[in-house]
Amino acid sequence: MTNEEKLREKILIAEDDAVSLHVLKSFLVKWDYDVTVVTNGTQALQILESDDTPRLAVLDWMMPGIEGIQICQKIRAHPEKPYIYMLLLTARTHKKDLLQGFAFGADDYLTKPFDSRELRARLHVGERILNLEDELRFRATHDNLTRVCSRGVALDAISREEARQVRDKSSFGVILVDLDHFKSINDTYGHMCGDTVLKEAARRMTGCARPYDTVGRYGGEEFLIVVASADESITLALAERVRIAICSQPFATDSGDVHVTASFGVAASSIVRPLSSKELLQLADEALYRAKRKGRDQSEGSISLETVSITKTGSQRFG
Ligand SMILES: [Mg+2]
Repeated sequence: MTNEEKLREKILIAEDDAVSLHVLKSFLVKWDYDVTVVTNGTQALQILESDDTPRLAVLDWMMPGIEGIQICQKIRAHPEKPYIYMLLLTARTHKKDLLQGFAFGADDYLTKPFDSRELRARLHVGERILNLEDELRFRATHDNLTRVCSRGVALDAISREEARQVRDKSSFGVILVDLDHFKSINDTYGHMCGDTVLKEAARRMTGCARPYDTVGRYGGEEFLIVVASADESITLALAERVRIAICSQPFATDSGDVHVTASFGVAASSIVRPLSSKELLQLADEALYRAKRKGRDQSEGSISLETVSITKTGSQRFG
């Protein structure tokens, strides 16, 4: 999915038999997995329910505490969490038992004593499925063209910051970004060039944002950046960094270098003046409108709520 170097895959082994555990562990370490070992079902479930869980698990069927199939059942009760590929290890060979294992949510099984080549092959299948799951999840939450977050995910990030504000009394900001005269880029150079510009603009935005900020495509040539733990001046400073990142270097496209600028509307929700996401977006939208009216290629902060009602809002009126 990304070009980053892939980290060693984490794997959990839950097995109460010392000999079997030793054999399993030595193979998995040899195959360069990042191995966590437990000897009962209770610990296994605890690890698989943690935020930083391995996503591959080899679970013994019969264990003290909770049995392997019950672990499968409990993990599958939370489909909203990242998928965990679970392989049951069992001495049972009756078809009825194996079918029960699948019914409880196991992905695969291996009978003891196991063949190491078979285990390795089956783990590779698991990794392939996890990679597909990652790719599907990414596609469902990101904009296809620009690879930044989808509009829905960016709006969720505002809700998350709102909740954090109540809990931690923190401030946070939003930036609405609109590429200037984007329609004329499309009209002059064609839509392929327009797509390249959108992708490159998104890349520059992401490059300026901090890891805990959220960059999303709001629609068309408009982007939304949710800035965590930031007051209005910090948010405005980030908007300026993005603005300079966009206007300072021309965009290389198949139609040649294109000079691109963008306008920015900024608003922040502080402890002294907490705003709903609707109010916050409205303020940022008003600020963006002012930035456009003042000549584009600039960032504007918000003004007080009392004065915003006199200006009009609407979409796709900028250009
Ligand atoms: Mg056992």
